[in-house]
Amino acid sequence: MSELESVTAITVDSSPTILLAEDDPVTRMLMTRFLKKAGYEVEAVANGAEALDKMMSRYYPMLVTDWEMPEMDGVALCKAVRNLRLDGYVYALLLTARDSKEHIIAGLEAGADDYLIKPVHEPELIARLNAGRRILDLEQSLRAANQRNRILSITDALTGAYNRRYLMEQLPRELERCRRYAYPLSVLMCDIDHFKHINDACGHAAGDDVLQQFAARAQNSIRSNSDWVSRYGGEEFLIVLPETEYQGAVVVAEKIRAIIAATPFPTRAGDAVVTASFGVASTGSSGPDIALKVDALIRTADECLYRSKQEGRNRTCGHEIVACQALMAHG
Ligand code: GH3
Ligand code: MG
Ligand code: MG
Ligand code: MG
Repeated sequence: MSELESVTAITVDSSPTILLAEDDPVTRMLMTRFLKKAGYEVEAVANGAEALDKMMSRYYPMLVTDWEMPEMDGVALCKAVRNLRLDGYVYALLLTARDSKEHIIAGLEAGADDYLIKPVHEPELIARLNAGRRILDLEQSLRAANQRNRILSITDALTGAYNRRYLMEQLPRELERCRRYAYPLSVLMCDIDHFKHINDACGHAAGDDVLQQFAARAQNSIRSNSDWVSRYGGEEFLIVLPETEYQGAVVVAEKIRAIIAATPFPTRAGDAVVTASFGVASTGSSGPDIALKVDALIRTADECLYRSKQEGRNRTCGHEIVACQALMAHG
């Protein structure tokens, strides 16, 4: 899955689900009823160990836990929940029958956000949970802002493709992963043919329309869960195809080339006939050689692209980086 698709918000709904851990069945039943009446979804368990199990199976934004419980007490639970380092923040409220300062400090230091002395005064509990919701809301909007910033920092504003920064961050990881698992890796360097003419004839804004649609056509021609498109430069795109060997990569390049050439690109200045040239570089079918670096992979794709241009454009040249391999031409 691409990083953009995996950026999913942890949402705290208007009535967050509370996980209630309380060993006394009567208190548990009364508190469940009371919290539900106050508009919360509630799931109740009898001890810390059960609560921790639940916490690992889904996200509970709020935890209300008794301190004294068998198996795992409330303080151990708070510590364990913090150690899980969950993606979404868990607002934890500790209920305790003891009110010594040392006791309360120990609870807060274990990871509780707040505490209440038993017997619980119900309106106070609700007021404190509502205050906790404000913290969860704040945390959620911070997380959403961070996700937006992350997306902005790794994508190209015009085309929505990944930008060069992302490429240079991610391609070494892809290469390393393919090396570890002995999978092949291919990259396609694509460059729009005579793009300067398109700009000159139709205007720069229409040129931008072509770039957008080029990226979209390329994106629609690849496997969306593993392959990805990056904008390498002005009208140059580098497409990364993990677990794809040379022959397969040439097929993909030729497929995109045909899709680009088959239908003119509608732009604000009318239809533009567009073609593109491709350079394919692949590792051997059992993965990258130990010494192969990202720079060499990109350089090889670039050299093949140059050959495609030399040989008349609107074509694909490629090279599989293994010993004694000749350059091959297609298209
Ligand atoms: P070739 O077939 O050899 O690739 O010829 P070309 O005209 O495509 O190549 P060249 O590198 O000479 O021109 C690339 C042009 O792309 C020049 C530049 O003005 C244009 N360009 C770069 N970035 C953008 C952009 O974001 N929008 C638009 N509209 N044009 C851009
Ligand atoms: Mg108890
Ligand atoms: Mg170029
Ligand atoms: Mg060009």
